[in-house]
Amino acid sequence: MSEHHEHDHAGAHAHGHGAPRNPYLDKRRNGEETAVLEARVKAIEAMLVDKGLVSTAALDRMVEIYEHDLGPMNGARVVAKAWTDPAYKARLLEDATAAIRELGFGGLQGEHLVVVENTPTVHNVVVCTLCSCYPWPVLGLPPSWYKEAPYRSRVVIDPRGVLAEFGTTLGDEVEVRVWDSSAEMRYLVLPERPAGSEGLAEDALAALVTRDAMIGVTRLPAVA
Ligand code: FE
Repeated sequence: MSEHHEHDHAGAHAHGHGAPRNPYLDKRRNGEETAVLEARVKAIEAMLVDKGLVSTAALDRMVEIYEHDLGPMNGARVVAKAWTDPAYKARLLEDATAAIRELGFGGLQGEHLVVVENTPTVHNVVVCTLCSCYPWPVLGLPPSWYKEAPYRSRVVIDPRGVLAEFGTTLGDEVEVRVWDSSAEMRYLVLPERPAGSEGLAEDALAALVTRDAMIGVTRLPAVA
């Protein structure tokens, strides 16, 4: 596993200019680009089916899995259980792959999962600097900004600056740790349990957990 410790860029980003614009969220494909991609995917699919290399039923099942069975709701259940069950949390931090499998999540792109815990003095954020490695069983497919060069390169060089663009400003007392995913190791952030959530049951807690908080680009807000 590799971990980049942040450099000190505390002075590099001036704050107080209103809501930070998030360049990553602006980097979406336009309609024309999407149409070109869709046409290409359809052509490849038709050719594979035509040659007997895949069946349409298998492809439909894959799409179904990604639409319904995988996604941040799985990671949210893991996080909520860790918040409410200290023994589970200990197992999760010790061997995330096994602990996540206890809840029925695992398999493709989740063979070696590592959970890193946010605390009042440590904030973790996940990237794949090489490509787009991501813990599919617990987060589903990565958002487009996660796969694109600006996030992948800048979060390592200037994690505090990138986090600020996501609306996450951290005090100097908080150490930022950047985790570089790879084909071998996929990271999930265990966010801090929100203030005000003390009375909530596991299901209600899971509903508070967001994808971005489990990537580590945001923190979960206090419960009103
Ligand atoms: Fe990757």
